[in-house]
Amino acid sequence: MRIPLSAPDLGPDDRAGLIRTFDDGWVSSAGPVVEDFEQAFAATIGLAYATATSSGTAALHLALHMLDLKPGDAVIAPTLTFIGGVAPIVHAGARPIFVDCSADDWNLDPDLLDEAFRRAAAEGLKVRAIVPADLYGQCCDIERIRRIADVQGVPVILDSAEAVGATNRGRHAGHGASAAAFSFNGNKIITTGGGGMLASDDAALIARARSLAAAARVPAVHYEHAEVGFNFRMLSLSAALGLSQLPTLDAKVARRRAIFDHYRRRLSGRPGLEFAPEAPERRHTRWLTAVVMDREITGVSVERLRLALAGADIEARPVWKPMHLQPAFSDAPVIQNGVAETLFANGLCLPSGSALTEADIDQVCDVIEATLDG
Ligand SMILES: *Cc1c(COP(=O)(O)O)cnc(C)c1O
Repeated sequence: MRIPLSAPDLGPDDRAGLIRTFDDGWVSSAGPVVEDFEQAFAATIGLAYATATSSGTAALHLALHMLDLKPGDAVIAPTLTFIGGVAPIVHAGARPIFVDCSADDWNLDPDLLDEAFRRAAAEGLKVRAIVPADLYGQCCDIERIRRIADVQGVPVILDSAEAVGATNRGRHAGHGASAAAFSFNGNKIITTGGGGMLASDDAALIARARSLAAAARVPAVHYEHAEVGFNFRMLSLSAALGLSQLPTLDAKVARRRAIFDHYRRRLSGRPGLEFAPEAPERRHTRWLTAVVMDREITGVSVERLRLALAGADIEARPVWKPMHLQPAFSDAPVIQNGVAETLFANGLCLPSGSALTEADIDQVCDVIEATLDG
């Protein structure tokens, strides 16, 4: 049987909640279910306000739209991330400036930020925001990024799409930024099928985002609009899944971490093979377990390993291809230290879904060992 990278982990409570919501007649965004999920999610992560969206990308799009970006504006983003964290920068009207990541946590390297601001100025661009990501389930160094952003006078909008359940100094991912976006896509640690959330301690910010996500309707019997909005509101059917998935979050984090530990127990003695680091005081959810191979030592490329796994019907995926290597961003400024390119060339994400069994993980390890012993 196929072993997928990160499949939805759904149970009888999800089915029951979904059917109850359907039977109550709540399928669109109308009704109480979306608001119930917003409040439950905000309470879980410890931020005061949250608004539910059709995707994590949409949540970031709303946050960036509210910055009123103009031609000549730039937004700093990590180069090692998923396009969903970057496309909204372009759609909101700014140019991305890419920054490499730190080997300590694979997230945006604060040491490169000053240079990114200098590069922007040299290119005649005005930096309006920093949008770091919390990659693979580990929080970025938000405190340091925030201090630099404060000196420069720009907000930090956090792409915490991959970090539901992660903590940094005991606080859930998303704290320390002006606003944070989360994703409940089918491959994330908890899922609403597709969906996202924008969360913040700023009541006005979330109220405006909620309005913009629902076509920016002003209360009136007819359709009245004081500004131009979007159709980004989450559906009740998705929110119903969110409400049943949320109470399982801790167990799903524990399961993903146990899967990581299983891989580490089986494979960590192998020369030339390393696991993604967990930085001090941060709780990595291990949403995806990622390994990095030194080909000089193993004699095997990650692509050869990936193909061997695919041959056994096991899905593995290279680490994110850096944005500055994407044809879509061939002309974007980038501040590099080489870490992102090394991780892309040598990194592989292994099956990590919380529904996988010990036998599944052993099977993946068997193929990895056989390939390395080749
Ligand atoms: C999943 C993801 C997103 C976007 O989430 P969607 O819900 O799929 O739109 C954004 N950024 C990162 C880093 C992601 O992994």
